Amino acid sequence: MTQIPISEIPEEGLPLSYSEDPVELDLAVPGVRFLQAIAVDLVLVKAAPVISVTGGIKASVTCECVRCLSQFQVPLDIPVATQFRPAPAPLPPGEYQMPSEEAEDYYYQDGVVVLDDLVRQEVILAVPFSPQCRADCQGLCPQCGQDLNVGTCACAPPPDPRWAVLREYLKGK
Ligand SMILES: [Zn+2]
Ligand SMILES: [Zn+2]
Repeated sequence: MTQIPISEIPEEGLPLSYSEDPVELDLAVPGVRFLQAIAVDLVLVKAAPVISVTGGIKASVTCECVRCLSQFQVPLDIPVATQFRPAPAPLPPGEYQMPSEEAEDYYYQDGVVVLDDLVRQEVILAVPFSPQCRADCQGLCPQCGQDLNVGTCACAPPPDPRWAVLREYLKGK
C-alpha cells in the first residue's frame, strides 16, 4: 500500500515513481487481465488543505475483443491531474448531503494520502469499456462461429442493412 503522510511532502512538491503490482491493488475488471506492473509517475504538491496530484500512470492490459473474442493487448497511458481533499466529517445520523460536484476528487484522512485508491480508480476508468481488437473487426459468424477475420464460412451472409434502405425506397415507387 502506498501511503504518503502529508507532513512528508516538501514545499517544492514530492515526485514519486514506482511500480505497483496489479494483484496488490486488487484490480479486477471482468474480461481484462493485468500482465505487467503498473508504472506510477506522480508529483504531489501541497496547497493546503488540498494535495494536488499530477503525472501519469502506465499499464498494459489484455482484453478480449467483444466481437471475435480474441485476446489482445491494450497499452494504457493515463494522464493524471486531480487532487486529494480532506475527507468530510461524518454527518450526524439522519442527515445526508448531496454528492459534491467535485466527485472526481479523492479524499485523504488523518493526514495521509493513500495513492492506491487513485491508481486503482484511474486504471479501471481507462480500461476500454467494450474492447475491440481493431476498429473493423469482422467478429464471429453468428451461425457457425467462424472467425470472419480469418476467413469466410458457408453460411448465408445477413442482408446488408444499407440495401434495406434502398429496398424500402424502391418499394415506395
Ligand atoms: Zn476482434
Ligand atoms: Zn458461418
